[in-house]
Amino acid sequence: MDKIKEITSGKAKSLYTTENPEYLVMNFRDDTSAFDGKKTAALLGKGSVNNQFNAFIMNHLEEKGIKTHLIKVINNNESLVHKLKMFPIECVIRNTASGSICRRLGTEDGLVFEHPLFEFFLKDDDLGDPLINDEHIIAFGWANKEQINSMKNFTYKVNDILKELFINSGLILVDFKVEFGLHENGDIVLADEFTPDGCRLWDHETMEKMDKDRFRQDLGDVVESYHQVAHRLGMNIKLD
Ligand code: ADP
Ligand code: UDP
Repeated sequence: MDKIKEITSGKAKSLYTTENPEYLVMNFRDDTSAFDGKKTAALLGKGSVNNQFNAFIMNHLEEKGIKTHLIKVINNNESLVHKLKMFPIECVIRNTASGSICRRLGTEDGLVFEHPLFEFFLKDDDLGDPLINDEHIIAFGWANKEQINSMKNFTYKVNDILKELFINSGLILVDFKVEFGLHENGDIVLADEFTPDGCRLWDHETMEKMDKDRFRQDLGDVVESYHQVAHRLGMNIKLD
């Protein structure tokens, strides 16, 4: 399906309208950003691996009963998705402490939580994506109680499914962020992306970081590590 007009160009992806008003083309660019857009770079081939990685994960989640926005992969860098009204919220689950929770609460990096820890963040780069709770979401009208509960339940389910998928390939799913949108028919649908840009993955033996922390912390081989993860999961990534 042909792209008509760009409607959003975020930090890493662009969205285009199509002849079908219910569908969008999502283009995964090589652009990479961290620290709410303060550190940026273009990493050759990242868009391509992420588009195909995302499709593999979304298809796996669909098979396990999670509704996702993915319709199909169009080419190496682009996928067709359902157009949704996005909740301006990020849903994060942490199995192991790392990143912002360590800075916020002084938690030791690598501490394994007894139960997965769920957090909501407001999607607002200017405010540094602040931590929010259910009360904020209701008070500001970002979602209602039922939608909040659905987002939480789906995120926990995604965690259960993907923790198992990754550990079977020798990778620890430390934490991840997902976003949801509302379909016209009222369904809450998993949207945006699931790629190493939005999660932490550590090799279970060496504890080597295989995700966007390689970019955040200047560890090098960012795209190579994403390919390594994809390879371990049995994905057949086409090169540009
Ligand atoms: P950011 O907004 O964080 O810079 P991206 O570069 O990833 O991020 O931009 C993608 C944008 O597309 C995000 O704002 C995301 O909420 C939005 N989006 C993701 N999936 C859909 C969808 N199915 N329908 C409408 N918007 C979507
Ligand atoms: N995350 C993301 N986008 C954001 C914020 C976080 O994809 O805008 C992901 C991040 O990659 C990690 C998880 O969500 O896998 C938790 O991130 P954290 O709160 O620790 O923030 P960070 O220190 O990564 O900025």
